[in-house]
Amino acid sequence: MKYYGRICHNLESITTEKILKKIPGVMFQNRKYVCNQCTNKDQSLFMKYYCHHCHKMTVYCRYCINLGKVQSCKDIYVIESHHERTKGFYNLTFELSEQQLMASSKVCDAIIQYKNLLLYAVTGAGKTEMIFEGISKARQRGDNVAIVSPRVDVVKEVYLRLKEAFEDEDIDLMYEGQFAEFNSTFVVSTVHQLMRYENHFDVVIVDEVDAFPLEMDNQLMTTIRKASSKQSSHIYLTATPNQALRSLFKTSDIIQLPARYHKHPLPVPVFIYNKIKETKLNHKFLKTLKLQIEQGRKTFVFFHDIEYMKTVYAIYKYHFARIEFVSSIDELRHEKVKLLRENKIDIIFTTTILERGITLSNLDVIIVRSDMFTSSAIIQIAGRVGRKVKQPDGKVMCYHNGITKNMIRAKHEIIQMNNLAKQKGWLI
Ligand SMILES: [Zn+2]
Ligand SMILES: [Zn+2]
Repeated sequence: MKYYGRICHNLESITTEKILKKIPGVMFQNRKYVCNQCTNKDQSLFMKYYCHHCHKMTVYCRYCINLGKVQSCKDIYVIESHHERTKGFYNLTFELSEQQLMASSKVCDAIIQYKNLLLYAVTGAGKTEMIFEGISKARQRGDNVAIVSPRVDVVKEVYLRLKEAFEDEDIDLMYEGQFAEFNSTFVVSTVHQLMRYENHFDVVIVDEVDAFPLEMDNQLMTTIRKASSKQSSHIYLTATPNQALRSLFKTSDIIQLPARYHKHPLPVPVFIYNKIKETKLNHKFLKTLKLQIEQGRKTFVFFHDIEYMKTVYAIYKYHFARIEFVSSIDELRHEKVKLLRENKIDIIFTTTILERGITLSNLDVIIVRSDMFTSSAIIQIAGRVGRKVKQPDGKVMCYHNGITKNMIRAKHEIIQMNNLAKQKGWLI
């Protein structure tokens, strides 16, 4: 492999690549420390210690430590970028919908002109397929392409789909613990891993940009900018764009994609006043869950708080044989998700970790205390339902202790997308 466009900590693996510059890992500039690997300037993230190699105090950056420690007493190397053209060939085993074709041509235009674009697409619109043609055009021109997401599970899934379509391309997959194998001409990675690059990518596609924690927005943009060539195109894909993201684009550069691939509308949340107590069995809730099983439906029950979920779970677990709970701190979560896919669980209590990624048929969701959720979380959760062509609908039940603005906003946005899809003639 070649280290084109990368920031290297030593020159051991460098062969024919050209070294652009040699700089200290951390420098002191305008009375502040600055990390030359990740551009971090937050002074609280720099640590000092006595270096026994140099016999003096050294400063290192904690923010990018899992990409390898960079410090003030050691130089890092920026390797020159490089461009390789390919045929950009890809397979597509099905036809794109009218909406996908429209989106695909917008993406191509933006890439060809090195412009930015925000694709605001409902869950289940088939976003990945909309970027194939654009990637192909970019690779034919020799552009370096990166597809990034904040989330490792999304990165792995997108990689598998791209690998299947672009079988002749050398695609690098990168996340923590998974390293590049090829020349970084076509990379699928977490946003974090993009910190390894400087001035290299001509096209950066950010998938599920809304999954990025808000407080890290600035770092996200800085990382992408630093990894990108002077002239580059950035495409953002999201189902729930926040105001900060929208404000970065002209209205004409925000493309709304309101229809799901199967052309059925999004399920609209139903608000149900129902307080779920931690101490007492709720008969309405129990009856609903029993009915779900009788009807052969699966149920995801979402909670905003792990402890609350566990206490409530303890009350209901005796009533069902195939019930489980899962959370982000659950060590068995991958096993539990596997059981779910294998159809061995009927009801799963969960925190928001299941809000993305998992697609099951016959699925309905209940959001307990939906008054505690943000509108984008409600939209993401509702987006789990009715994804399959054979099962395009389902229920989104929002239990609440009082309707909130966020709940209304979520419902309103879903109805608006459905209306827009209908107007465009993109629904059956
Ligand atoms: Zn750093
Ligand atoms: Zn040292």
